[in-house]
This record gives sequence, C-alpha cells and structure tokens, in this order.
Amino acid sequence: MRLDKWLSNSGFGSRKEVKQLIKGGAVTINGITVKDGKKQAVPQADKVAVHGEEIVYREFIYLMMNKPDGVISATEDNFHETVVDLIAEEYKQFDPFPVGRLDIDTEGLLLLTNDGQLSHSLLSPKKHVPKTYFAEISGAVTEEDVQSFAEGVELDDGYVTKPGILNILEVSDNESKITITISEGKFHQVKRMFLAVGKKVEYLKRMKMGTLELDPSLQPGEYRELSEAELEMLR
Ligand code: URA
Repeated sequence: MRLDKWLSNSGFGSRKEVKQLIKGGAVTINGITVKDGKKQAVPQADKVAVHGEEIVYREFIYLMMNKPDGVISATEDNFHETVVDLIAEEYKQFDPFPVGRLDIDTEGLLLLTNDGQLSHSLLSPKKHVPKTYFAEISGAVTEEDVQSFAEGVELDDGYVTKPGILNILEVSDNESKITITISEGKFHQVKRMFLAVGKKVEYLKRMKMGTLELDPSLQPGEYRELSEAELEMLR
C-alpha cells in the first residue's frame, strides 16, 4: 500500500496534507525516513511512524448515526442529501455506505461502514437480525393488533410477515406510542404492517439492530465511531 494512502486512511488528512507531512521528513518506514508518498509499505509487516509514533493501518471504519428525517440512506442521490453527505471527509475517504435502508422520513440507528462482510452478515435474511423501532401511530393500537403481529400479518402484496413483537407504551383515541421488533427487512415493512391492521405510522425511529443500540446522546444527523465492545458484539 502507498504510504500516503496509509496515512490518510489513518486520519492524517487528505492526500495533499499527507504529502506535505511526508516531504517534511516526519514519516519513517521501519525506522528509515521516507520523503516519497508513493513508497509502498505492507500492513502487518512494515512499521510506519509519524514523528516516531507508530501508526497502525486501519482498513475499516464503523459509524453509528442517528439518521435525521429528510435524508436518504444511500451514498449518492441527484435530488436529496444522503447520509454519506453528512459525514466528515476524514471518514468519507474510507467510502462508507449505509448498512441497509431507512425510509427518507425514518430517523434513528443507521450503521455506516466500508466492511462489506459485516454488512452482508447483518442484512442476510438467513441471520434474522432483529430490529427494534419506536413509532407513533394514529389512532388506538389494541391488544388485537399485538396478537395479529405476533402471528404475522398479510401485507398489501400478499406476503405474510414473520412474527413481530408489538409493545404498547401509551395509547389514546388519537395516537399510540409503541415499540416493534421485527426480524425481516421488507420494503416499508413497519408502515405496511400497520396498514395491514388499518393504522398509519406517523413517526418512525429505529432504536436497535441486533445487539447495537442507538446512543441516546446522538442528535439527529450526529454520528460517532462504534466502540470496540459494540463492534465485537455485532460480529
Ligand atoms: N419499516 C418502515 O416502514 N420504514 C423504515 O424505514 C424501516 C422499517
């Protein structure tokens, strides 16, 4: 791997900034000062240091975002802002992509990474990774709805969902607050499950995906790197 890529991937700035650093004589490979960013270094074999401090090469990044309303879960879009547009250059250079999709108006937990293997395993239908959402529903959600969801409901295209766990938090004639846990990821699934029992989702926020819980301190649009512990649990 090129030395300039190694350093920019490790958070030392853009390729241009890194070039300056290297030219200035701050960088060594195996203890020898190198002034050419095109020089190759081998991860796990060569030791790269900046001002004498070893820089371990990093290949993957893992970000937890509280996705805001109005932003698309994609890497690029001609009309709307995307979740990747919200990310700082220091992370964007890793080419992260969202793990799965949330609707444009859905908020909450979204994982962004460049680790295709982890993404694949979290999204694989075979793995049945449970996802928990908080939702506000127009009208009164009933114990009958809880029962229907537990059995699986028939969506508008005839597909019968796997059981979902519906939990009523608050209910009035006008509005209900609920959580729902599902283990599938059909298009607009939660909204369509409520439509199947004649109700409309007014607000939807993902709280949990597998073992990963949305950090309550993240405001919509904010993100942070996963901790080692969070990453270990996801694997
Ligand atoms: N279900 C939906 O209807 N929308 C989402 O964004 C996620 C799950």
